[in-house]
Amino acid sequence: KVTPVFSPVLGFSDRTAIVDSSGSHTYRDLYASSWGLADRIAQTLGLGCESGDVGGQRISFLCANDASYSVAQWASWMCGGTAVPLYHKHPPSELEYIITNSQSSLLLAGCPYVDTLQPLAHKLGLPCLQLPATSSLTTQETAAGTDRLPVVPESDWAQRPAMIIYTSGTTGRPKGVLHTHSNIQAMVQGLVSEWGWSKDDVILHTLPLHHVHGIVNKLLCPLSVGATCVMLPEFHPQKVWEHLLSSKAPRVNVFMAVPTIYSRLIQHYEQHFTQPRVRDFVKAVCKERIRLMVSGSAALPQPILQRWEEITGHVLLERYGMTEIGMALSNPLKGTRTPGAVGTPLPGVEVRIVMTNSSNTTIAEGNHKETRVRAGLECKEGELMVRGPSVFREYWNKPQETAEAFTDDGWFKTGDTAVFRDGVYWIMGRTSVDIIKSGGYKISALEVERHLLAHPLIKDVAVIGVKDATWGQKVTALVQLQKGTSLSLAELKAWAREHMAPYIIPASLLVVEEMPRNQMGKVNKKDLLKQFSPSQS
Ligand code: ATP
Ligand code: MG
Repeated sequence: KVTPVFSPVLGFSDRTAIVDSSGSHTYRDLYASSWGLADRIAQTLGLGCESGDVGGQRISFLCANDASYSVAQWASWMCGGTAVPLYHKHPPSELEYIITNSQSSLLLAGCPYVDTLQPLAHKLGLPCLQLPATSSLTTQETAAGTDRLPVVPESDWAQRPAMIIYTSGTTGRPKGVLHTHSNIQAMVQGLVSEWGWSKDDVILHTLPLHHVHGIVNKLLCPLSVGATCVMLPEFHPQKVWEHLLSSKAPRVNVFMAVPTIYSRLIQHYEQHFTQPRVRDFVKAVCKERIRLMVSGSAALPQPILQRWEEITGHVLLERYGMTEIGMALSNPLKGTRTPGAVGTPLPGVEVRIVMTNSSNTTIAEGNHKETRVRAGLECKEGELMVRGPSVFREYWNKPQETAEAFTDDGWFKTGDTAVFRDGVYWIMGRTSVDIIKSGGYKISALEVERHLLAHPLIKDVAVIGVKDATWGQKVTALVQLQKGTSLSLAELKAWAREHMAPYIIPASLLVVEEMPRNQMGKVNKKDLLKQFSPSQS
C-alpha cells in the first residue's frame, strides 16, 4: 500500500518535527501550515480548493534550511503537485535553468528569497507566492487542516510524480530526475528499516536540501517516523560541534554528512580542541549519545575514517547512492563496516555488476540477502546496475536519455564501476572519468586516490587520466598538500614504489592550493580534464 510520505505525520501531532533558528515546530504546526499553503497554491493555479488537485504541475521552491522547506514540500504534495527544490547558493541563471527546464507553473519563495525569485517570476511570467515566516507557522492558519486528507485519491498515489531532483552536475548539466511517491517511499522505507530510525531520534541537518542526501536521508526519513530534525541554516564546523556536544534537549543522536564536512570538523577539532580534557569529553559525549554517523555522496578517504574514529569512537558508516536510485548499497548498522567499501544492497534493491564493454556478462548479482558471483569472474570489475522500487521513473523531458539509461530488461545503468570482493561491494569510480586506461591497464582513479591519501603530506587528491601519445592516458595526480609543505614528483614516486603497484603510480603531479570541491564534496573531473588535457574532453 502506497501512501504519500507525509501522511504518517498525522499521527505525530504534538511531537517536535523541526527545530530551526526560529524555534521548535510540531508536526501539527507543519501539517496545518502546509494545508494553508496547499490551498493558496490551488487557488493561484486557478483550481477550486475543494477539489484542488493541480495534477502534477511543477512547483519550484526556494527556502532557507528551515521548517519552511517541509511546508513547501508537503504543500506541493497535498495539492497533487510535483515538488522541485531549488538551492539558495545557485546563481539566478541556474535557478532559471531549473525552473524552465522543469516547466514549473508556480514559484514559492521563503522569506529571505522573495527578492531573488520575484524578478525571475516576472521575467518568466509565473506567479510567485511567499511562504509564511517560520516564526509564524501556526495551527491557526487552517485549524481545520489537521484532519484533512490529501486531494489525490489514495489508490492514485503510487505512480503520481512527487519530486524532480536535479543531479549534482558532476558530469554535465544537471538532469531533472523524476521520482514518484512510491519511489520516494521505497527510499525512505529501506533506510528506516536498515539504519534503525525511530521516533526518539534527533538528527542534525547541515546539508543542502536539493539532493537526495539532504532531502531523503536526513529529512524525510526522520519525519516519516516522528523523529526530530535540527536544521542549521548552513554548515559551520563550530556550530556543528556545539550541537553534537550540547546537553540541551533535543540532544542530537544521528549525524550524516559528505566526506569534506567530516574533514572540516576534524580540522576544527585539531585547531580548537587541543587540551586532553576537552578531547576526552568530546569522545565520551559522542560515544555515549550518538548512535549513528554516516558518510556518503563521494568516496570516504581512509584518513578521515580513521581520525574520526580516534576522535569520536565512531566508525563512519559509508553508503553509496545516486539521485536516480536513492541509496543502494550500505555498510551495516550493526556488524562489521569494511573501510573503503560500501557494503551490500539495501532492502528492496537488486544490483548487478556487468562487463558492459565486451559480452555484457553479469559478473555478480545480489540483493539484500545475498550476492552470487559467476564462477571464474571473482573480483572482476564492471558497471554497477540497479533495479528496484526506488529507481526513478524518468529524466524529465529527456526520453532518449531515459531510454539509454536502462537496459532492455529494466536495469538502471549507474555509470559507476564496481567490484564485489570479500563479501562487499567497492566503488571504483565513474566509468567515464575514473577508469583510466594506461599502457594496457585499467586503473581506478579512486583506488589510486585511496593510496595517495596515505602519504603524510597529501591532504586532498584527485586523480585523472590525461591523454598521452605513448600510454593512451597517463595517471595524473592533483594534490593539495598539508600547509607549508612541498612535494616533488620524484619524492612522490619514491614513496609510491614502497606502497603501490608500479603501473598505478602517478606519472605526473600537479600541486593545487585548494581542491575544487562542490557543496557535496565532489570534484568535477570533466572540468579538470578540460583544464589539464583540453584535447581529451
Ligand atoms: P551528474 O549525474 O549530474 O553528473 P552526480 O552523479 O555527481 O552528478 P549525484 O546523483 O548527486 O550526482 O551523485 C551520484 C554519484 O556520486 C554516484 O554515481 C557516484 O559516482 C558518487 N557516489 C555516491 N556515493 C559514493 C560513495 N560512497 N563512494 C564513491 N562514490 C559515491
Ligand atoms: Mg550522476
